[in-house]
Amino acid sequence: MYAPASELELRDILRRANENRTPITIAGAGTGVAGGRVPLSGWVVSLEKFRELAVEPGRLRAGAGVPLREVQRAALNAGQFYPPDPTETWASIGGTIATNASGSRSFRYGGTRRYVKALRIMHASGTLREYRRGEAIDFEVPDIPRPNTTKHAVGYDLHPGMDWVDLFIGSEGTLGVVTAAELELLPRPQAPLGGVVFFSGETAAVDAVEQWRGIPRLNLLEYLDAASLQLLRPLYGNIPAGAGAALMIEQEAGDADEWLDRLQGAGAFESSWFAEEGPDLERFREFRHALPRQINAMVASLGAMKWSTDCAVPVARQREMLAFYRERMAVAFAGRCFVFGHIGDAHLHVNLLAPGDEQQRASGLILECARRAVALGGTVSAEHGLGKRKAHLLELQYGVAAIEAMRTVKKRLDPYGALGHGTLFASRIVAEPNDAE
Ligand SMILES: Cc1cc2nc3c(=O)[nH]c(=O)nc-3n(C[C@H](O)[C@H](O)[C@H](O)COP(=O)(O)OP(=O)(O)OC[C@H]3O[C@@H](n4cnc5c(N)ncnc54)[C@H](O)[C@@H]3O)c2cc1C
Repeated sequence: MYAPASELELRDILRRANENRTPITIAGAGTGVAGGRVPLSGWVVSLEKFRELAVEPGRLRAGAGVPLREVQRAALNAGQFYPPDPTETWASIGGTIATNASGSRSFRYGGTRRYVKALRIMHASGTLREYRRGEAIDFEVPDIPRPNTTKHAVGYDLHPGMDWVDLFIGSEGTLGVVTAAELELLPRPQAPLGGVVFFSGETAAVDAVEQWRGIPRLNLLEYLDAASLQLLRPLYGNIPAGAGAALMIEQEAGDADEWLDRLQGAGAFESSWFAEEGPDLERFREFRHALPRQINAMVASLGAMKWSTDCAVPVARQREMLAFYRERMAVAFAGRCFVFGHIGDAHLHVNLLAPGDEQQRASGLILECARRAVALGGTVSAEHGLGKRKAHLLELQYGVAAIEAMRTVKKRLDPYGALGHGTLFASRIVAEPNDAE
């Protein structure tokens, strides 16, 4: 593995790789869950030493290797705010850009793409360029139709007249190396009011999502299903008896009395939890993060494999997708199927725990789920990208012509296919187990 300390060193490595036709895998912090950072062969090049960080009013400049948590902290210390928050704050800025990372707060603020003002890119050839927002690409690309979802992280987001910055965001290390970025900062928001709102069941919770989606300044709207709550009960004895679903909410400068009225209107439990900024609110976030840990503990105790989805559908098709999760996945994996996540974006993760000989059944369902999402006008990956593990889903999402257009762009920028070999582009349709969230 190489860890260059400067752009000059990076250029030298890329040029040598080019001469020898050696595949290169770009490494950020390795928190990606789609396997893009895992090399098939050749050299791994880490950007961990690219750590410059400078904050100004309204913007920040960061080296690719700066952890997201340092960017968030530096912004807050300057009375500002960097919204992208894909849970795992050890992720590097370069990695979050390469995967267009989003997360629970993207319900209000959108994903990383929205905040990138400029990128410093080293091309596979070793040429260094700085691209600013609005600087259009100098070649033709077709308009590849996007699903009508609020989030989408599958392949290159090609459209005529697009700019270079958009081309590199979400390209998963296959088109160029991000060495630094200029990012937009927002004014620091007012303190949020947060809550975990309990319902008797899924239907009532989904009804509430539809009522509450338009509430102003709502930062997030997250879901935990009955099986997820059941898994958390040993840790949280105060989950109300009879609760069969929960929504997590967070609203900037929210009013507790207004929320109590909303609870009544939605038939939610009065014993739901609310807190203003401080330790209690932190406990709610911890409650949400405890779920993947509990699932992983169950994976270990069952000796099972975890299979996960990252599909999203148009908001209006959410109920149909949920019906699929219930009728196909939860029935087949009763007690070992967990549905949770970004319900405000119609983007729920399903985790299936499959011990022993159940791998084929789980893999078949994961593939069926991706097909169902696409049939509903959705996406096979809303936030994690395809990497290597899910590269086979590219052709479920797009037709042959769109994939060919993406390959043409790849060939133009990386003629020898050195960068991210095996990421995004694969030929077989098979499903692989996934240990995402
Ligand atoms: C517990 C947990 C929760 C998560 N939750 C979310 C979530 O809610 N939303 C979400 O979007 N993601 C989530 N993730 C995924 C993950 O945090 C992101 O994918 C992250 O953005 C990857 O950053 P990284 O630095 O770790 O990149 P890596 O994993 O090192 O690399 C990811 C990809 O980016 C490429 N890459 C990395 N750096 C560069 C660079 N400088 N230039 C070009 N290409 C580069 C790599 O080649 C690879 O293809 C979660 C991960 C974990 C572990």
